[in-house]
Amino acid sequence: MSFVAVFDTKPYDREYLEPAAAARGLTLRFHEFRLSSETAPTVAGARAVCVFVNDRVDAACLRALADAGVRLVALRCAGFNNVDLKAARELGLTVTRVPAYSPHAVAEHTVALLLALNRRIHRAYHRVRDHNFSLAGLVGFDLFGKTVGIVGTGKIGRLTAQILRGFGMNVLAYDVQPDADWAQRFEVSYTTLPALLAASDVVSLHLPLLPETRHLLREETIAQMKPGAYVVNTGRGKLIDTTAVLAALKSGQLGGVALDVYEEEEGLFFEDHSGEVLQDDELTRLLTFPNVLVTSHQAFLTREALTEIARVTTTNLRNFADGTKLLDGTVLAAP
Ligand code: NAD
Repeated sequence: MSFVAVFDTKPYDREYLEPAAAARGLTLRFHEFRLSSETAPTVAGARAVCVFVNDRVDAACLRALADAGVRLVALRCAGFNNVDLKAARELGLTVTRVPAYSPHAVAEHTVALLLALNRRIHRAYHRVRDHNFSLAGLVGFDLFGKTVGIVGTGKIGRLTAQILRGFGMNVLAYDVQPDADWAQRFEVSYTTLPALLAASDVVSLHLPLLPETRHLLREETIAQMKPGAYVVNTGRGKLIDTTAVLAALKSGQLGGVALDVYEEEEGLFFEDHSGEVLQDDELTRLLTFPNVLVTSHQAFLTREALTEIARVTTTNLRNFADGTKLLDGTVLAAP
């Protein structure tokens, strides 16, 4: 393989991908811009591209890649809603991803958000730096003895539940495919979604975004929640109807919200927009609430996750170049 064109590259991507690629004898060409049908001509000479969540790998882009001689699209993420897999198969392209890099990274960030929101760490940090040592408005509650509802008990939801059991929280769970053995082992109780919402002091979302999970939290389901409950979302932004969350924050039906993902994050998150006027009115409003904490889709961002992403991605690039077997569970499309 001549070289691999890497798109939407940030400094932390380079830091982890470069040594992994060098160890496997691969040459990477880094681009800071995203891949799309417009930027596809820049791949000339590459047999593989490496992309992330916001590269737009639609049918037109894939056609341009195939025409330029690209044979492999390697996603350095788990989600693949930005790639037209049907078109890739029709064009005889191979598409790979990194299905699981570190569920611990996401679960731990979920708990970090909950602790910070509840104990007002985000407010205390700024206050103390301003030499304001007053405690007014910083009252939280003990997590011990409270109830958390984990919606989605896959890899990340299960780890989050286990950590919160360690805090002495009661854990309720909801999943279309409950894992009874796991629940028994960690003293977790599966229940229905309405029962979970009605009983939980904290609701944490760990579902994939699917047509049936879109706006899982909306006016009607938020109304089923305990007044003053917290919501934490490190799943996908569109699991939540932001308009309904804003209304519930204003009325007090929700006591606090911590988000690592946002409905309209594309084009905003991962980039520095300081110095610009934010055009998204709902995000702007969300950021005005003292009881809202937003991080910019950073739950995955640990050394371990980045190392694993680089290992899996470059191993597949090497194996593809050598015509050997791609790693199990990573292939989304193959000719
Ligand atoms: P997973 O596939 O291991 O688990 C998902 C769980 O959701 C499964 O148990 C599944 O049965 C359940 N589920 C699916 N549809 C459902 C429905 N309609 N109702 C109830 N349960 C349903 O996935 P995971 O690795 O635990 O990741 C969970 C989500 O976290 C991902 O889909 C992704 O969107 C998000 N994620 C976010 C970040 C981040 O940086 N913020 C990083 C990785 C993953």
